[in-house]
Amino acid sequence: DYKSRVTVVGSGNWGSVAAKLIASNTLKLNSFHDEVRMWVFEETLQSGEKLTEVINRINENVKYLPGIKLGKNVIADPDLENADVHFVYGETGNCAVKDANMLVFVTPHQFMEGICKRLVGKVREDAEAISLIKGMEVKMEGPCMISTLISEHLGINCSVLMGANIANEIAVEKFSEATVGYRDKREIAEQWVRLFSTPYFLVTPVQDVEGVELCGTLKNVVAIAAGKVAVMSKFGFHPCNSACELNQSYYQMLGFVDGLDMGNNTKAAIMRIGLREMIAFSKLLFSSVRDSTFFESCGVADVITTCLGGRNRKVAEAFAKNGGKRSFDELEAEMLQGQKLQGVSTAREVYEVLSHRGWLELFPLFATVHEICVGHLPPSAIVEHSEQKPKLS
Ligand code: NAD
Ligand code: 13P
Repeated sequence: DYKSRVTVVGSGNWGSVAAKLIASNTLKLNSFHDEVRMWVFEETLQSGEKLTEVINRINENVKYLPGIKLGKNVIADPDLENADVHFVYGETGNCAVKDANMLVFVTPHQFMEGICKRLVGKVREDAEAISLIKGMEVKMEGPCMISTLISEHLGINCSVLMGANIANEIAVEKFSEATVGYRDKREIAEQWVRLFSTPYFLVTPVQDVEGVELCGTLKNVVAIAAGKVAVMSKFGFHPCNSACELNQSYYQMLGFVDGLDMGNNTKAAIMRIGLREMIAFSKLLFSSVRDSTFFESCGVADVITTCLGGRNRKVAEAFAKNGGKRSFDELEAEMLQGQKLQGVSTAREVYEVLSHRGWLELFPLFATVHEICVGHLPPSAIVEHSEQKPKLS
């Protein structure tokens, strides 16, 4: 009987948890080979050892997911595509992607174009891919989703998996839901659902790749706004000019709360406005995007969890606390120790699309997040900007 072979491309915080989830299932399901290969961007640890060597020795990603056993059938591989050159763990002619017919992509989005270029002509023609990556690229021709980047470079179909999935919580098997977005082949979506589902990880397929992927991408921008709001309120600023612009009643509600200690209600307002911009932006880019997608785990649930507990929110809060004097890059390096934010670069990418298409005034929350991130707007500018009239009704 034919057995599928799975490779995970990426091994950060979520990449490692994804490998753990998958590896628990390949051991149980007959239709998969037990072994799960995980491509690791190799680095030397402070101990002097290579990260892949440590992962394979103690079965733990000590840098990106310390304290969690991945499963003995997860094999860390530093060789992405050079099958003929390297000698990995006693097997000649092997590399991470060579024999895999199921490829799971889960790296920070900014590295994917380079990875795709390296993989051209190296993956099986009949391989299926899934992207767990929250982000997009912006090209001369316009925005390009990461699943499209993968499909176009590698000539293979690519689904997506997004959701309210803070990796550290899933690592300790706390219950979560997720959404698989697929294009047209339901049986492929079901295969991915089987590969990821566990009693604590409930996966639902939805036929809307763009909608699911844009949810995962855009909610990181909303999370940056939520982080800033958490701090601005303490400084007595208006919570967010862009939120105020969206409708008059919202403006009135917040326009007079200067100096109040804003809390959960303000953050909920930002989430609502953010979700509204997510829906509008997604539908302007792809008319096929479905309303119902925003009510799946990838939509409203991911906005909530990321605005409450995500890395984007935490670092944005530190940025605002420092009055914008320390850059996001500096704070990211200090606070995340090698893990990467996606929200700041996504805000820039979204801003490029908005300015190029003349949509800036339609998306005040998205636009303001970027302008604050790059220092064009100090947090104090938030008040003047709130005078503008709503554009998106
Ligand atoms: P991470 O931010 O924890 O780790 C960064 C990774 O990037 C490391 O594996 C590092 O080795 C790698 N890296 C560094 N430089 C590189 C380079 N030049 N080329 C290639 N790789 C390089 O990663 P993560 O949390 O697994 O995030 C991957 C994707 O998953 C992101 O799009 C993220 O938004 C998404 N995601 C993350 C979570 C989460 O809770 N961590 C949850 C859901 C989705
Ligand atoms: P952060 O990258 O902000 O931690 O968000 C993780 C996530 O995507 C949760 O679903």
